[in-house]
Amino acid sequence: MTLLTPPPAEARNRAYVEEVINNLRQLGATVVLTSGLHGKDVIIDERVVYTGSMNWSSNRGRLEEVHRIDSVEYARTCLGSLQARHIREHTINANRLPRRCPRCGCPIQIVNQRANLREWERQPLKIGCTNAECEGYLRPLDERLPLTTVPLCAIDGKTKYRLTARGKGKVWKCPKHPSKCAQIKFVPGDAESSRHTGPTVTTSAQISLPMDDAF
Ligand SMILES: [Zn+2]
Ligand SMILES: [Zn+2]
Repeated sequence: MTLLTPPPAEARNRAYVEEVINNLRQLGATVVLTSGLHGKDVIIDERVVYTGSMNWSSNRGRLEEVHRIDSVEYARTCLGSLQARHIREHTINANRLPRRCPRCGCPIQIVNQRANLREWERQPLKIGCTNAECEGYLRPLDERLPLTTVPLCAIDGKTKYRLTARGKGKVWKCPKHPSKCAQIKFVPGDAESSRHTGPTVTTSAQISLPMDDAF
């Protein structure tokens, strides 16, 4: 189960929202902090969509409505427009814990840039940091998670990859077998590259990168 909800900092009843989020996470739900979304949709089993103006968690006595639509096709369209697959995969770590900003260690959120963009962009939803003072961490939703350790050679299992400049960007390369071992495109936040002075980011599980993820 994946829930998108505004960050607690934006809520009036912050302590209550934090408690609810913790409880849901303990029950196994993936709770994703998301700015700039107003939807109240519920999609169940890629089959049933509840949509309308009704808030699911609060009621101020206004007349609201909700519709139930039983349609695989419609449910899939809704999931696609929410980019639900990417949101789920890229906001939790391999250990299923919420991902954190590699620059400052604060929780990340989904940032909806649609309102700020003059022209239509293919992916207005980005991964950003919840810390307002940590500017500049904004990554595409489908980018792989930053590596928590330096990648190792697949042939001998111990040679550490090295960062090498390639065009405008950087790639991880095996220094022993530069043409045989797969290169891995560098992503901001990758181990060794983080020169932030804030708290060290710890993730208890290392992300293993299958060969197809390299290019
Ligand atoms: Zn940050
Ligand atoms: Zn190698």
